[in-house]
Amino acid sequence: MSTNLDILPLNNWIETDGFPLVICGPCSAENRDDLIKVAKDIALIPHVKIFRAGIWKPRTRPDGFEGVGNIGLQWLKEIKSQTNLLTTVEVANPSHIEQCLANDVDVLWIGARTVGNPFSMQEIAETLKGVDIPVMIKNPLNADLKLWIGAFERMNMAGIKKLVAVHRGFYAYDAKPYRNAPMWEIPIELKRIVPNLPVICDPSHIAGNRELLSLISQKALDLEMEGLMIEVHPDPDKALTDANQQITPDVFAALIECLIIRKEKGNREFESKLEELRAVIDGIDDELVRILKKRMQVVSEIGKYKKANNVTILQLRRWNDIINDRMKKADKMGLNKDFLESILMLIHDESIQIQTDIFNKEE
Ligand code: PEP
Ligand code: MN
Repeated sequence: MSTNLDILPLNNWIETDGFPLVICGPCSAENRDDLIKVAKDIALIPHVKIFRAGIWKPRTRPDGFEGVGNIGLQWLKEIKSQTNLLTTVEVANPSHIEQCLANDVDVLWIGARTVGNPFSMQEIAETLKGVDIPVMIKNPLNADLKLWIGAFERMNMAGIKKLVAVHRGFYAYDAKPYRNAPMWEIPIELKRIVPNLPVICDPSHIAGNRELLSLISQKALDLEMEGLMIEVHPDPDKALTDANQQITPDVFAALIECLIIRKEKGNREFESKLEELRAVIDGIDDELVRILKKRMQVVSEIGKYKKANNVTILQLRRWNDIINDRMKKADKMGLNKDFLESILMLIHDESIQIQTDIFNKEE
């Protein structure tokens, strides 16, 4: 898959003083006084550039708090005039966008549920034609990278070049210990396919709790994500939405302060040592590929032999023995057993496929 998007880097439209872009604010705006108070507290925390607040909330069930609606835009306007923060709001349809544009919201974001619906994305893109506003797009709930990329393509076709991807984790039947499984490989693959797209992380919706926020934030930065969006509430336990994952401005300030900002490159000595180690890895990977090829050749031979003797492909007892034996060895060597099990499963799938092809081949 290849895609060629015309996207501006973050520093083209926002001053980030060499620090990752930091966005925070409550999951939902709840009332004027609390919102303005928390924004003022947040404005004092170094590095925060954008204040977030949901005012139209997508809820799983109809009795949940659905947001304060348009009145929240007035409160955000007040915050803009009283602090140096920019503002961002989640939009899900053309009327939300029109309201935000009429009330000087600086940045729009599109939520995970909306991104999963191409009709909504197309409608939003059409509404934004000719508008110059940054748009952040969260990943869809399901781990569908093409759908996520499609959302950027639609925005880009509408002329939006200030685009940001927000990694907020993916729905999984069992995402424990997270609320949404991070599946880091998906934002990494997004970066590989669309290298000029800034990707930031939303640790709040990945974690679903307060304890994991620091760890996820640090990991995101270590994976070269360009910013963080974190939910901050004046009194998290009483929050009307996402209470479990929100933190106070003080806890948030400590989190930001503890982040280690690592650089992409080290000094010359570091680089040459790294190069040496990478050469070793290249050699090992070559060997791995050769060994896998050799294994599959033997699998072919076994397949032909089984076919000639009318013996079934899958022999469960043999497969069980393989798993048990290799796992024991992995454990002894200190290799992660889950990791080895996943690899063995993949190898086994391929082995079965090769033998199935042999069985199906006409002589
Ligand atoms: C939110 O940011 O509050 C939100 C609703 O997020 P998501 O769309 O990622 O669920
Ligand atoms: Mn939320």
